[in-house]
Amino acid sequence: MDDRGGFALDTESIEVLRQAVERLGDGFAGLPPAGGPRGDPAAIRSVLCEVADRLHDNYPYFHPLYAGQMLAPPHPIARLAYALALWVNPNNHALDGGRASSHMEKEAVADLARMIGWETHLGHLCGGGTMANLEALWVGGCLCPGTTVLASTQAHYTHSRISAVLGRPFEAIPCDGRGRMDAAALEARLGAGDVGMVVATVGSTAVGAVDPLPRILELRDRHGFRVHADAAYGGYFGLAGGLDGDARSAYERLADVDSLVIDPHKHGLQPYGCGCVLFRDPSVGRLYRHDSPYTYFSSAELHLGEISLECSRPGAAAVALWATQRLLPPVPNGEFAAGLDRSLSAARRLWAIVRNDPRFVTPFAPELDIVVFAPRARSAGEASALARRIFDEAARRDLHLALADLPATFFDPASTGMVLDRPTVTCLRSVLMKAEHADWVDRIAAILDASSDAVTGADPGGDDVFPG
Ligand SMILES: *Cc1c(COP(=O)(O)O)cnc(C)c1O
Repeated sequence: MDDRGGFALDTESIEVLRQAVERLGDGFAGLPPAGGPRGDPAAIRSVLCEVADRLHDNYPYFHPLYAGQMLAPPHPIARLAYALALWVNPNNHALDGGRASSHMEKEAVADLARMIGWETHLGHLCGGGTMANLEALWVGGCLCPGTTVLASTQAHYTHSRISAVLGRPFEAIPCDGRGRMDAAALEARLGAGDVGMVVATVGSTAVGAVDPLPRILELRDRHGFRVHADAAYGGYFGLAGGLDGDARSAYERLADVDSLVIDPHKHGLQPYGCGCVLFRDPSVGRLYRHDSPYTYFSSAELHLGEISLECSRPGAAAVALWATQRLLPPVPNGEFAAGLDRSLSAARRLWAIVRNDPRFVTPFAPELDIVVFAPRARSAGEASALARRIFDEAARRDLHLALADLPATFFDPASTGMVLDRPTVTCLRSVLMKAEHADWVDRIAAILDASSDAVTGADPGGDDVFPG
């Protein structure tokens, strides 16, 4: 909020950027003067203002009242460092194309590996969790050709699609009532053989559920498959002090997986275009070997292009991550870790409020910072319709939640009184991934309350009487 009482985006940091760009230019001041691409400032301003107007057509992802999907603004240091790097526009495919930024990438990725508990590793940044998972499943397939990939029914849909791209058989393992892979069902499937990899989702996209990693690792000892952790969303939460028992014991074993994916562009305060894949055994780098006449490898040092499926990649993404981790190291008990704990406590508080509200049913407590709940109703169909209407009413009051279709089996008819007349229940879902959410839960709950009143009070019969 600014002093006029309204919301204002940060513009102060732009002055810091100007100083940093000048400092960057100082390093190249010995070059003969030359005109770079500058453009006509008036024409640029006019188009840029048009762009600003076009961008009004967005939900306010940067505001704490946006508490819907996994969307959050980058930290100012990430935004500034990314922009600063664009004056050079390094390409982290090869050291020749991005010298400083390749070294910064290796340092930033090593910090993430250390956060997991690995002193040695192989890893790099990539476009996002999808690319990162693709590489992990590809490496697994190279090592155990022809074998099946298993992930839970709540795993990200990308795993079945990636498996199809790679030509690997894929099967889904059922979940328990809290959205976590059912270890008994996994064990039964392993008995039938042919499994080369089990994907453990460490923080599911829909509800933030953490698969039972200790059990999965125990089964690996007996059946000998690779364990890949898809921690694209949840990877940082091992730093949080306030995890509950089951989640905590999964994070304590994260160092024992064979490969892991984490998305700095989700909980790592980065702009989009920043995923990370990590392998515990650095020797898998040999699988990436290629021989290209186009690549200008002129240094004996490791080129990131030699251990990555993507070729050209933004060095700016590495610079942004490096700068963020310099300011906010991903270590226990630091400021960054405290932010994760604030998200956890925001989620628990919202969950407690909703659980004590007779208008709602909640299938389970949040393991991370995602809260799901459904309006209490006679049937799954009715609850789903009400959820959509509350979602719309909340949006009219500037509170942006999300909707998620969850298995009806998450809702116990005995305790919820809900007839499960359809296989899924459309639930309200809130991702409280901004540290500031901790200060906004009461405000969010008050708007949710008013929105629910508007739906149930105005229309107890169930006909749609709401405008637009
Ligand atoms: C977001 C997510 C992905 C996909 O990652 P992108 O960065 O969107 O490509 C994969 N797995 C999980 C668990 C996720 O939350």
